[in-house]
Amino acid sequence: MNDSKRGFTTAILHSDRGAPIEHGALHKPLHLSIAYGYRDARDLAAVFQGRAAGYSYGRQGNPTSAALETKITAMEGGTGTVTFATGMAAIGAIVMALLKAGDHVVSSQYVFGNTASLLLTLEAHGHPVSFVDATDAAKVEAALTPATRLVFVETIANPRVQVADLARIGEVCRARGILYVVDNTMTSPWLFKPKDVHAGLIVNALTKYIGGHGNALAGAITDTGLFDWTRFANIAENYKTQPPRNWGLQQLRKKGLRDFGGTLAPEQAHHIAVGAETLALRMERICSNALALSKWLAEQPQVRAVYYPGLASHPQHALARSLFRHYGGLLSFELADGHDPFEFLNRLKVVVLSSNLGDNRTLAIPVAHTIFYEMGAQRRAAMGIADSLIRISVGIEDETDLVEDFRQALA
Ligand SMILES: *Cc1c(COP(=O)(O)O)cnc(C)c1O
Repeated sequence: MNDSKRGFTTAILHSDRGAPIEHGALHKPLHLSIAYGYRDARDLAAVFQGRAAGYSYGRQGNPTSAALETKITAMEGGTGTVTFATGMAAIGAIVMALLKAGDHVVSSQYVFGNTASLLLTLEAHGHPVSFVDATDAAKVEAALTPATRLVFVETIANPRVQVADLARIGEVCRARGILYVVDNTMTSPWLFKPKDVHAGLIVNALTKYIGGHGNALAGAITDTGLFDWTRFANIAENYKTQPPRNWGLQQLRKKGLRDFGGTLAPEQAHHIAVGAETLALRMERICSNALALSKWLAEQPQVRAVYYPGLASHPQHALARSLFRHYGGLLSFELADGHDPFEFLNRLKVVVLSSNLGDNRTLAIPVAHTIFYEMGAQRRAAMGIADSLIRISVGIEDETDLVEDFRQALA
């Protein structure tokens, strides 16, 4: 079978064996060495100069993270991937490696809390950032200025699950030649491929669904091959020796990964790679559980509002249906007046009170008091986060056990 025609899961499962592995091993072994020796000094020089493939010093990557990069590239249908120690290290690398003083950024106002915090730091460093309602591409377009260097959006926002107008924003960026960066963490490449909406770079926090087991942190940037890097003003001359399709990732690996040092350790890369094998299977179960739970919650008198893109009541339900395979694993809801969210949460027995998302286990958290506490009431209001909002990251438990847990906790 032609490798490129293989299905999503087949391609991930067998990607390590694209090259022979010692002893016929089915998993890429852990390469823990941080340095690599060469017999011919010319080969060493060629690796340093980017003329030959190979490894130099572990901060820029290692064979184990490279094997994971191959998997992520296959999942996203991209041209290449750079992995990082965390999702935030990947996003940080994009803004630090690709922007110059005065460059303007347009970001969705509905982004991961730490991403919003990072973008505010960026502003303090002299890059103006406009936060706009990305559910409406016209608002993104209206915010563009001649200095806009990149547009950053997420697919489904956390915790209020707003869905960005991904395809139309892609059209706007394409028409203007602006780099379009899509954080695909909440959907994962099984539900959505940002390449289909003309994203130039894709971010995945591998920590979440792709790893899936809550046992390793990691992040990735994938180039879709659709952005014309010759139109990007900020590529350093010394990175232009390779074909233009490599310029962006080359600068991200050097200026972003090497210089800031947010390197993915081989052990963590291995955990993520093993988790990634079952991404599609887990997402199917997670999404069907999330749809069932959100429908059930919406019928309960103790619940004031349920937010889930799979519900017809969701403002971007039709958009989500047109873009995504399923509606994701995240939902949030508010209890009716007179019901204390803390009391409710404390009665949950199966569901774990925890800040992570994308774990196999279902996790719940009172948003305003924890992950969105630091940003203050005003920003929370702008993001649609009520004080009583509870976020659920749905896992792969048996559906009946999940519904029963919510039933007894609401009673
Ligand atoms: C968790 C998350 C990140 C950051 O990933 P870490 O691995 O925790 O640094 C970035 N974006 C989104 C949408 C996330 O959910």
